[in-house]
Amino acid sequence: ASQKFRNFPMVPRVVFGNGSFDQLGDILLTKRKSSDAPFIFLVDDVFENSNLHSRIPRIFSDQIIFISADEEPKTQQVDALVRKIKESYLEMPSGIVGIGGGTLLDLAKAVAILLNNTGSAADYQGWDLVHRESVYHVGIPTISGTGAEVSRTTVLLGPERKLGINSDYTTFDQVILDPELTKGVPKEQWFYTGMDCFIHCIESLNGTYLNAFSQSYGEKALDLCKEVFLDDLPDKESRNKLMMASWHGGMSIAYSQVGVAHAMSYGLGYQLGIKHGLGNCLVFQHLGEFYPEGVVIFDQMRNKHKIQLPKGICATLNDNDFETMISIAMGMEPLWENALGPNWKSVITPAKLRSIYRKI
Ligand code: NAD
Ligand code: ZN
Repeated sequence: ASQKFRNFPMVPRVVFGNGSFDQLGDILLTKRKSSDAPFIFLVDDVFENSNLHSRIPRIFSDQIIFISADEEPKTQQVDALVRKIKESYLEMPSGIVGIGGGTLLDLAKAVAILLNNTGSAADYQGWDLVHRESVYHVGIPTISGTGAEVSRTTVLLGPERKLGINSDYTTFDQVILDPELTKGVPKEQWFYTGMDCFIHCIESLNGTYLNAFSQSYGEKALDLCKEVFLDDLPDKESRNKLMMASWHGGMSIAYSQVGVAHAMSYGLGYQLGIKHGLGNCLVFQHLGEFYPEGVVIFDQMRNKHKIQLPKGICATLNDNDFETMISIAMGMEPLWENALGPNWKSVITPAKLRSIYRKI
C-alpha cells in the first residue's frame, strides 16, 4: 500500500565550490572496497581531450568510459554498460561516478541500480520497482538545469516508452557541485538546459500539487533563474547561481510534479529524438494559455540572449506520428493532473495537443 506522505530520499552528501572537483580522489578513497573493486567513471565524451580528463583520480583497476551525450540514455545502453563492467571484473565495482549533464548523470544512476538488480533497465521503468540497493554512486554535473543531480529518477528511453526509474535507490550517494566545470558549455545548450530548470519552477509553482515544501524550493530556484537569465551577472556568479537553481528546482519538483511542457516534450523526445531541454523550450513557447506569466518571462530571456528556436519541427509528421506523440504525452497522467487538476481530460484532448504540436 502506498504511503499517504512520501518519505523522500535526499542526497546525503554534497560538496559545493569552485575547484571542488579535486576533492573527488579523497572522497572515493574512503569508499574503495579493495584494489580489485574499481571505480567506474562514466564521462561525457566532450571531456576526452580536456584537462578534466587528467584530473580524474583513477587508480588501481579503475576505468574511465567516455560516452556521447548526443542521444538521451537508453535502457539497452544501460544493459550493455552493466554487462561490460561485469565481464571486465571479478569483483563488483566500489562505485560509479557520472560526470556530465543529465544524460551522463542518468546513465550513472541507472548503471549503479542495474549492477545490483537482475534483468534489464526496462524492467524498472516506473515507480518503486527497484528492491535492492544500488552500488555507491556519485554525480558530478558539468552543465546546470536538469536537477538530475538531486532527483530520485533516471529518465531512460526504452523499447516502449520514455520513462524514469523512480526509486529510493536512484538518488546519488554523493554529489560534487563544482560550477567551474560548466565553463565550456555552448551558449544555446546553456540556455536550453537552464530553461529546463526555469520550466521546472513554473510547472511546480503553478501546479495543483503545490505545497510549502515545493514552493520554498521553487521560489528560490525561480529567483535565481531570473537573476541568471535577466540580469547581467559576472560569469562566475552566474555559474554558481545556476548550479544552485538547478538543485533547488529539482528539490521543488521532488515533492510536486512537472506539467504541460514536460508531458508534451516527452512526446517530442520519443517520436523525434528531440532532447529534453530543447523539447521543453519548443513546447513552452506555445503554452501562454496555461502559464501566461511564465511564457512572458521566457520570451524576455530568449530575446535577451538572442536564442532562435528551430521551427517546422512537426511539419513533416503524418497522422500516425502525431498519434504516437499524443499518446505518449497523454500517458503522463500525474503531470496533467498536477497541471490542471483531476478533470484535466476535459481540457486536454488529442485534438488540443495536436493543435499545439502543429505550431512547433
Ligand atoms: P546533456 O547531458 O544531454 O548534455 C547536453 C550537451 O552539453 C551535450 O552535447 C554535452 O556533451 C554538452 N556538455 C555538457 N557539459 C558540458 C561542458 N561542461 N562543456 C561543454 N559541453 C558540455 O544535457 P542536459 O540538458 O543536462 O541533460 C538532458 C538529459 O537529462 C535528458 O536525457 C533528460 O531526460 C535528463 N533529465 C533527467 C532528469 C532527472 O531528474 N533525472 C531531469 C531532467 C532531465
Ligand atoms: Zn525537466
